[in-house]
Amino acid sequence: MGQPAQPLDATPLEAGSPYELRVDNAKHLPESSRHAAIASGDVGFLHSFTTGSTVDGPGVRLVAWTTLCMFRCQFCHNPDTWTLSNGIPVTIGKAIDELRKYEHGLKVMKGGFTLSGGEPLMQARFAARLFAAAKELGLHTAIESNGFYGERLSDEELRNIDLFILDMKGFSSDQHKRVTAGIDNAPVLEFARRLSLMRRPMWLRYVLVPGLTDVPEEMEQLAHFAASLDIVERAEILPFHQIGRYKWEKLGIDYILSSTDPPSEESVARAIGIFRAAGLNAN
Ligand code: SF4
Repeated sequence: MGQPAQPLDATPLEAGSPYELRVDNAKHLPESSRHAAIASGDVGFLHSFTTGSTVDGPGVRLVAWTTLCMFRCQFCHNPDTWTLSNGIPVTIGKAIDELRKYEHGLKVMKGGFTLSGGEPLMQARFAARLFAAAKELGLHTAIESNGFYGERLSDEELRNIDLFILDMKGFSSDQHKRVTAGIDNAPVLEFARRLSLMRRPMWLRYVLVPGLTDVPEEMEQLAHFAASLDIVERAEILPFHQIGRYKWEKLGIDYILSSTDPPSEESVARAIGIFRAAGLNAN
């Protein structure tokens, strides 16, 4: 696929935050062009690039947010990243130019490049090429992923990623299906085991939602599994919030958690305690 035609009122690639609602940026591209882009990785579909993040890996990060995800988690705060057609079509060359633009600053600030989403490995060819380019520039690289499509990257491609931030939704298949759109997590656990065998550093993320993921047995099992991998440098308990609620409303998607409150300080502390009790560095 060559240079994609941009719509006249093209959305800027850079955003102040991933919480900006972005829709229909690739709607003008025929389905066949989108499929060709995904297959080759010549073009990626991105919600945006953001700069200055200090939470998406070590140091200060440049983050590219991909579109496309089939998990449809009940607590997702960026549902506009679910569909490819909402993403801005960006050639791999243009994406690498963005890395070059920030290369020096990222190194000075001991940061790097993070690919997030959406689910970045639903655009695995684009992700693999972008990580290879980032490593050639000498950047630290990280991916934030739900882990379901890890088998789409070869071992060699995985070695271009310095840190795997796995957003895990639960341990049992039943719980995982409840939180997502009925998706089994066997491939996620398998990918985590593969990372362990390859000794790739990992951070675990767990969104704590009252009445949904605030389930002690699930957290205990997940924590013990994570500890057994022996590669998890930290476990982050992320309290559920409602920053993304307006996106669900604007997109007209039924939002089951519309009146769910953030977890109490006590329940966050209890969750952290469960992960710590398994021997993890949790916060
Ligand atoms: S995996 Fe992430 S991007 Fe996908 S639906 Fe869940 S929270 Fe949203």
